[in-house]
Amino acid sequence: MVFPQTSDRRRPPLITALAGGTGAAKFLRGLTRVIQPDELTVIGNTGDDTRMWGLHVSPDLDTVTYALAGLLDDTKGWGIREESFRCLGAMAALGRETWFNLGDRDLATHLFRTECLRAGQSLTEVTERIRRALGVRSEVLPASDSPVRTRVLTPGGWLGFQEFFVREKAQVEVLDVDYAGAEKASPTPAVLNAIAAATAVIICPSNPITSIGPILAIPGISEALLSTPARVLAVSPIVGSAPVSGPAGKLMAAKGLPVSAMGVGLAYRAWLDVLVLDCRDGGLAPDLTRLGITPVITDTIMANREAEVTLARTVLEARE
Ligand code: GDP
Repeated sequence: MVFPQTSDRRRPPLITALAGGTGAAKFLRGLTRVIQPDELTVIGNTGDDTRMWGLHVSPDLDTVTYALAGLLDDTKGWGIREESFRCLGAMAALGRETWFNLGDRDLATHLFRTECLRAGQSLTEVTERIRRALGVRSEVLPASDSPVRTRVLTPGGWLGFQEFFVREKAQVEVLDVDYAGAEKASPTPAVLNAIAAATAVIICPSNPITSIGPILAIPGISEALLSTPARVLAVSPIVGSAPVSGPAGKLMAAKGLPVSAMGVGLAYRAWLDVLVLDCRDGGLAPDLTRLGITPVITDTIMANREAEVTLARTVLEARE
C-alpha cells in the first residue's frame, strides 16, 4: 500500500493546531464542527510516548485521533469508550507492570503501530494509516519522526513522563523537566509545511510544558512559528491560578513560569499573536497587551460539546 508523502500534498492546510492530549481533544472536536475536518492539520506531541510490554504507545496522538474519530472515552479523557481491560488483567496475572492502563481495543493500535515501525515505516506514516483506518479526515502529524522524550527531575532522580504522571500520579516534587533527544530531532517536512502554509496556527489548550514544550523543543519549530505569515493563537489551559486538569501548574512553576494565563503568554511570547483566556482572567489583558499579545476574553471551559464548538468558533473569529 502506498501512502501520500509530504511532497504529494495536494492542498495547503488551512488551520494547523499544535496539540497535547485531553484539552486539545475536546477543542479539536469542537473545531471540526466549525470547519471541514479536512481543513485541519494537527501537529501532535510525542514527548509522552512510551514503551509498554514491548509496544510503542503514543498517548497524545491516540487521544486526538480517537476524539476526532468519535471514539474517545469522555469520562477519562483518554482511551476508547466502552473499553474492556481483559488483557491488562491477564498481564497482571503474569506479574507484568500494569500501572499504565492499556485497554483491549486500544492495544490493537499499539500492536499495529509497533508492527509498522518494526517494518521500517515512520511514525508519520503509521499515524496516517491509523487515522485513515479510523475514518479521521483531519491530518494528524507527529511533530517529529525522531524520538523526543519528556523527563521529569524529582528528588529521587529522573522519571519518564508516564512514570511521573501515571505511576506516581504526578504527586512527587518536580525540580526540572527536559526533552531527551529533542536537540537531535528535526520536524518532519509535513510539519514545517503545515505551519508555513496555514492561514492560522492554533496552540490548543494543552499543558505548555509537557504537551506543547516537547514540540517547541525540536529545533526549527519555534522559528517556523515566528516566520509563518499565519496568525498564531493559543487557548490558555490555565484558568485563574490552576490548570483545568492535570499537572500543568506544578510543571510551569518548576520552569519558573507564573501559573496563570500570563505564564502561558510568557511561555509563547516569542511568536504568539493572540491569547484566548478565560473571563475570570480578564484583569490580565493589559499585561498581555504590553507583552505584544492580543488578549481575547471568553468562557474557555469546555464542559460539553456545545462549549467545545463555541470556544472553537471564538478562536477562529480571533484569527481575522
Ligand atoms: P496533561 O493532562 O497536563 O498531561 O495535559 P494535556 O495537554 O494532555 O491536556 C490537559 C490540559 O488541557 C491541561 O493543562 C488542562 O488545564 C487543559 N484543559 C482541559 N480541559 C480544558 C478546558 O475545558 N478548557 C481549557 N481552557 N483548558 C482545558
